[in-house]
Amino acid sequence: MMSVTDNLLGNVFGIYLARATDEEILKRKVASGGAVTALLAYALEKGIIDGVVTAKRTEGLEGQAVVARTREELLETAGNKWSIVPFASRMKAKIEEEDLKNVAVVCLPCQAQFFGQMRDFPLLESDFGERIKYIVSLFCIGTFAFEAFLNYLRMKHGIMAQDIKDIALKGDFLEIYHGDSVLSLPIKEVYSYLQAGCLVCTDYTGTWGDISAGFVESEKGWTVLITRNLKAEELVKSAEKDGYIELRDGSHVIGDVLKAAREKLARAQKNMMYLL
Ligand code: SF4
Repeated sequence: MMSVTDNLLGNVFGIYLARATDEEILKRKVASGGAVTALLAYALEKGIIDGVVTAKRTEGLEGQAVVARTREELLETAGNKWSIVPFASRMKAKIEEEDLKNVAVVCLPCQAQFFGQMRDFPLLESDFGERIKYIVSLFCIGTFAFEAFLNYLRMKHGIMAQDIKDIALKGDFLEIYHGDSVLSLPIKEVYSYLQAGCLVCTDYTGTWGDISAGFVESEKGWTVLITRNLKAEELVKSAEKDGYIELRDGSHVIGDVLKAAREKLARAQKNMMYLL
């Protein structure tokens, strides 16, 4: 167990590089290793959870909150999330409609904080934190104010929303996959299209999650998994034991994750100065 506390990365119980063993998952998630999908498929298939609440991209950058109950439904949610999907009300309705008792929620750090606080410090009768078994937070540099960003892509680069297949971060560039082409944009050029709240957000990994997941450039094809407590550690280790994921020690990439977290903090501090 690594004792990294009170720092930018929050509580780190273990840090790993993980990869799905299932060919179908790997095929769809080549860049990221697919470990989150494999881990959640494991939890669903072993009855540890009864649903996964996550975002599914619909068109362009838009998405909607969905509940996946099978590996196939999970696979349909593949793809990077570049817009924020209003989870809470949809999630509560879905949980109640389908009478789910133990869900995993895959979300962004700001949402992980909301769900984590509701679960650990319930305030209202309408809270449903006791039904959230795992919070899986994805590393996040920001989400777009998508109308303004889509307008920029259309006006400056002639890219229409309906032609966008995927958006991925590659080093300091944002790659927009559209039609059969890829447009590579320096990340600094598109910062101004991030949501205002993202410009002052300081959490890169999702410190309120049970598990945080993302990737680093130096280990392409692998997912970085940070476990934050014993429950998360046990899930990851048993998924490895049962052959759902391959697992390697990831302590050598903690510097890369920390570097990205520091850059996000510096951006927030700079932007806060302008706002105050
Ligand atoms: S940058 Fe922060 S506020 Fe913006 S979507 Fe990511 S976690 Fe949420």
